[in-house]
Amino acid sequence: MTTHTSLGAGREFDAIRAMLDVWGPRARGIGDDAAIVAVPAGEQLVVSTDTSVDNVHFRRTWISARDIGYRATMAALSDLAAMGARPLGVLLAMVVPEADRAALVEYAAGVGDAVADAETVIVGGDISAGATLSLGLTVLGAAARPLTRGGARHGDAIWVTGALGGPGAAVAAWEQGGEPSVACRARFARPCARVAAGQLLGAAGATATVDLSDGLVADLRHIAHASGVHATIALEHLPVLAGCTLRGAALSGEEYELVFTAGDGFDAQAFTTATGLPVTRIGHIDAGAPGVTVTEHGVRVEISGGHDHFSV
Ligand SMILES: [Mg+2]
Repeated sequence: MTTHTSLGAGREFDAIRAMLDVWGPRARGIGDDAAIVAVPAGEQLVVSTDTSVDNVHFRRTWISARDIGYRATMAALSDLAAMGARPLGVLLAMVVPEADRAALVEYAAGVGDAVADAETVIVGGDISAGATLSLGLTVLGAAARPLTRGGARHGDAIWVTGALGGPGAAVAAWEQGGEPSVACRARFARPCARVAAGQLLGAAGATATVDLSDGLVADLRHIAHASGVHATIALEHLPVLAGCTLRGAALSGEEYELVFTAGDGFDAQAFTTATGLPVTRIGHIDAGAPGVTVTEHGVRVEISGGHDHFSV
C-alpha cells in the first residue's frame, strides 16, 4: 500500500500533489522531512547522483518533456547498474523555470516511466524555481558485493552490452538540422539502464565495470586507470547499431550500456540467456601502462577524445 504524509496548502504542495497523482504507487512515503530506506542485512548502500541540465544534456526542441524526465532518471540509475546494485529508490530535485511549470507533470511522468521500468520507487525530492530547467536524480541501491572500476586484471577480456552509436548519431543529426532515425532517436530519448544485467555481472565473473556515459574509449580509460592496466580494443569488433559507424560506436556517449572486464570463466551465452542482452567481446587487458589502445584489423588507430556534452 502507498502511504504519504498529508501535505499542506500552497503552490509547491499543489505541484507535489500533481506529481504524486502522476506517479501513483511509484512514489512511496513522500511528505516527511526525509526518506526512510531500509538496507537489507549483509548488503551495502550504493548511492549516486546525476544532474541533467537544459541545453547541456538535452534540448527541449529535440525530445519531449516526458522523454527528458525518462532519460535523466535512466542516466542516474545506470550508475547503480555499473556497481551491480539493486535500486532501492530515487529522489528527484528539479529546478523549474516559470515557463516550464505547465509541463511539470510531463517531466514527472517520464521519471515515473523510468522508475517503473527499473522496478523501483520515488522516495523523495525537491522543487525550486530557477532560471534553467534541471533534473537532479539521486539514486539509492544495495549490493552485497558492489562492483567497481578497479578490478581488471592482466589476461581479462573486455566486453560491452548492447549495440552502440545511436545517441551520438541522434545528436549529430539534430545539430545538423536534420532528424535522426527512429532507432537512434529512441536510444537517445529512451535509454535503458542495464540494472538487471548489472546485478548478475559479479556472479558471472566480471572483475571491473563502468557504465557507458562518456563514450567507450573514454569510459574504458576510467577502468584502465582505476585498475592500473592497459586496455586494447579492436574497432572492427564493436557492436554497432544499424545505420551507425564503427567510429561513432567508439565515441558515442550517453549509451548507458555496460562495459566490463572478465576472465576466461565468463560465459557470454549464459549471460545473454539470463538477461536477454547481447554481449560482445571487444578487446583484452594486459599489464602495460594504464591507458587505451584502439586497433583496426591489427593496426593502431587514433580515436580522438570521448563524448563531451555539447556546447551551449
Ligand atoms: Mg557512470
